[in-house]
Amino acid sequence: MGLLSGKTAIITGASKGIGKGIAETFAKQGANVAFTFLSSVEKGQALEQELQQYGTRVKGYRSDASKMEDAEALVAQVVEDFGGVHIVVNNAGITKDTLLMRMTEEDFNRVIEVNLNSVFNMTKAVQRTFLKQRSGSIINISSVVGVKGNAGQANYAASKAGIIGFTKSVALELGSRNIRCNAIAPGFIETEMTAVLDENTVQQWRDGIPLKRGGSAEDVANACLFLASDMSGYITGQVMNVCGGMLT
Ligand code: NAD
Repeated sequence: MGLLSGKTAIITGASKGIGKGIAETFAKQGANVAFTFLSSVEKGQALEQELQQYGTRVKGYRSDASKMEDAEALVAQVVEDFGGVHIVVNNAGITKDTLLMRMTEEDFNRVIEVNLNSVFNMTKAVQRTFLKQRSGSIINISSVVGVKGNAGQANYAASKAGIIGFTKSVALELGSRNIRCNAIAPGFIETEMTAVLDENTVQQWRDGIPLKRGGSAEDVANACLFLASDMSGYITGQVMNVCGGMLT
């Protein structure tokens, strides 16, 4: 029996990186997993295959998190395929980093659409299902950058700070229906994406972190597991920093 036995989770943007780690951890803990990807059809199929070993139901869906129609269609399809949904992890996100001086309106708007509108879209889409069953856990992946800001990431920081305000508001609105909504703010997480960076630069980042290492997708996934499970039944409207002590 895992911590998520009998529960169905939707995880957005799970073909790689942190989302993939969350999908793996959830399946290992007995959850049925419905995950989304945008363009990586092959990676999505590979993950669907890989997760079969844990013996729960796993299905990948092609869905653009920045589109409301896609979010609505996704939730309807998952409810039909799995018979319900209990957990939503809004993980899909992008960066378009540059200094404000060079940042175009398009760079700003696209990051807001993918990172922030996506959280609104999925929460709206799943709300009725959660209200009917009088339970649900929503976990939004923010960032330490949304808490403290970062030069060269004004668009990304705005989207991630927006997620925090949204999370707290939803927690206040839906708490009386036993629907919980929390955010996770990861620090520097080492994924396929950071593996291509210069090793010296990465080492300097690690040295600046109190725990002296970058985080792993699994570190973030374990925090998600806690917030998704009944172990966190009395926790809502919170931001959990998973950052090796970067924020104190
Ligand atoms: P990643 O680029 O490896 O993964 C992001 C995923 O989102 C990909 O699978 C991508 O296909 C998907 N995606 C992008 N746009 C999408 C869309 N419109 N619809 C559906 N899916 C879409 O990045 P990651 O490092 O795994 O990041 C995952 C989340 O964690 C993001 O929200 C990111 O902002 C956040 N985060 C990452 C770090 C870090 O250090 N890696 C730190 C803080 C927060």
